[in-house]
Amino acid sequence: MIKENLDKLRKSIPKEVKIVAVSKFHPVETIQEAYNHGQRIFGESRAQELKEKYEQLPKDIEWHFIGNLQRNKVKYIAPFIHLIHSLENERLMLEIEKQAAANQRQIPCLLQIHIAQEETKGGFSPDECRQFLAKGKWKECPHVQLSGVMGMATFTDNEDQIRKEFRLLKSLFDEFKNKYFADVPAFKEISMGMTNDYPIAIEEGSTMIRIGTLIFGER
Ligand SMILES: *Cc1c(COP(=O)(O)O)cnc(C)c1O
Repeated sequence: MIKENLDKLRKSIPKEVKIVAVSKFHPVETIQEAYNHGQRIFGESRAQELKEKYEQLPKDIEWHFIGNLQRNKVKYIAPFIHLIHSLENERLMLEIEKQAAANQRQIPCLLQIHIAQEETKGGFSPDECRQFLAKGKWKECPHVQLSGVMGMATFTDNEDQIRKEFRLLKSLFDEFKNKYFADVPAFKEISMGMTNDYPIAIEEGSTMIRIGTLIFGER
């Protein structure tokens, strides 16, 4: 079914929107199957599991980290990670800076912003993120490439609420882009949209959707 799911999804979205296939808790065989059908971007939420999968799978896969990243786990993924979607505080940034420097590379990161009503989802509040950017410590982290924003909408059937939350994330992206990153082409990603809300996310300006269940089935 993976091929059919991917084909259907690709046909239903604009070409420029990237699909992160969220493969957390799925075995390498399943990921290999999606790879064989042309998928190259995969997202995982546990550092050690990600490292093991990285070692077993083709090296042209772009691995993305999504979800809560503990500082003591950054070292496992720093050598190869393509994008971290969940930069949510200064201490985590400083650790990513340290590990990226140790690996002589720059690691692209998204500012995760808490846009949902649920307490459970991580990220800066909008004001915390404003303060983080205003403080400017990130300018002293040349190995961390701030590349945009990420957010998760409330898990609800209320489409108006979901849309409002995605719209907030897009407006924060525009605010930060204008104020700090107008001359930084790399600051360009808005990671929003999952299986149950990606069509709304795309209408509201998503550049990157993170899809697990719709591609791989229930975890
Ligand atoms: C698990 C997860 C996804 C994928 O969720 P689905 O509903 O299965 O598409 C996307 N983003 C994050 C941060 C996740 O943890």
